[in-house]
Amino acid sequence: MKIAWEGVQNAALDILRALVRLDTTNPPGNERIAADLIASSLGAHGIASVIRESAPTRANLVARLAGADRARPALLLSSHTDVVPVEPSGWTREPFGAETHQGCIWGRGTIDMKSKGAMDLVLLCALQRAGAIPNRDIILAAVADEEAGSDLGAKFLVERHPELVRAGWVLNEVGGFTLHVGRRRLYPIQVAEKGFVTVKMTVTAPPGHGSMPRRETAIAKISALITKLVNTPMRRNITPLMKRTLAELGLPEDDPGPLLRPMLSNTVSPTILRAGYKDNVIPGEASVVLDGRTIPGEDPESFMAELRKIVGPEPQFELVKTAPPAETSPDTELFELIRQRVEAADPGARAIPWMTPGATDNKFYARLGSHCYGFSPVKLHPHMPFGSLFHGNDERLPIDGFFWGLKVYAEVVLEFAGLKFGDIFI
Ligand SMILES: [Zn+2]
Repeated sequence: MKIAWEGVQNAALDILRALVRLDTTNPPGNERIAADLIASSLGAHGIASVIRESAPTRANLVARLAGADRARPALLLSSHTDVVPVEPSGWTREPFGAETHQGCIWGRGTIDMKSKGAMDLVLLCALQRAGAIPNRDIILAAVADEEAGSDLGAKFLVERHPELVRAGWVLNEVGGFTLHVGRRRLYPIQVAEKGFVTVKMTVTAPPGHGSMPRRETAIAKISALITKLVNTPMRRNITPLMKRTLAELGLPEDDPGPLLRPMLSNTVSPTILRAGYKDNVIPGEASVVLDGRTIPGEDPESFMAELRKIVGPEPQFELVKTAPPAETSPDTELFELIRQRVEAADPGARAIPWMTPGATDNKFYARLGSHCYGFSPVKLHPHMPFGSLFHGNDERLPIDGFFWGLKVYAEVVLEFAGLKFGDIFI
């Protein structure tokens, strides 16, 4: 029995709206409500799923469509169900309303990344309904806590339940959206992501009374160090992948612009500053939290050594948390398939390998030996840049671009599992 593709599109839209209306802002997360919705939709199609809670209401759901050849490395389709907080005053529509307006679905999570969760879900259900047997297992994961570091989500599954998510290949965020560069259309496909090293830097100086000013105080010292940090570029480390990306974009290595610059070195941003407790007391201690990001090939030690070189021997460092960078080769059958399908669906556009400066769940799946790509395709209009939608106010998803992405995504997933789109859908 063939399945009407239009019905799949509409089901994806319905699921997306339902997911956006569930407030899974992290913190606190409360991803259980999303996991329950996905479980009941899978269950209605006869697909069993398991939910593993890493903490109360912090639910991770995994389901599996068995393939003909269990020895062939599985394909894992992953998304996170939590979203970042909203500032309602900055929104022109209700952030959890999933309203349709100007051809878009509006709401937190429409881009990042309940849209891909909806794609994964409707595809698995459609394959089951069609009685299609993939040539490898296809696993669906809808995980918690990505927006707060993944401790209760992908990291938890990888460390505590690796048998559920072990796969040869992973399709997750971030990539496959349209990047308009001049008159060209590019589709970055994430093959690498930076690691992070969060460090608390503390300085001390003798405390005193506010009525007796002095030059050397903890606040003055930390201010000088922060100024030095933000004005000192970190050592350039252009990886072979970034050389290739820059060459494909035709951009110079010495200054490729603000979007690409963070991918060419470790970086550091001061994020939380603390000092003082009383109006009239000069505090004896001041600290700043530094959000450090590391290029593939670097580790916390090399990052800290570089930091030390900039700020000198005095400040104390305390490692708050760290996660390694990750990189997968773009020279694989799956990347090639993604490239072909994307470029066929948008003639004249190019799909290129990409490193994201942020962190995704891929860095945890990669620990299980998976090839991980960020591919959640959406065609975006030039007036709707991805960078402004991702975590932004008025996050919204163009419905036509979502349907375009769903079809490209379905083609990639089906073909990689030995199935043909035209054999299953009309
Ligand atoms: Zn995300």
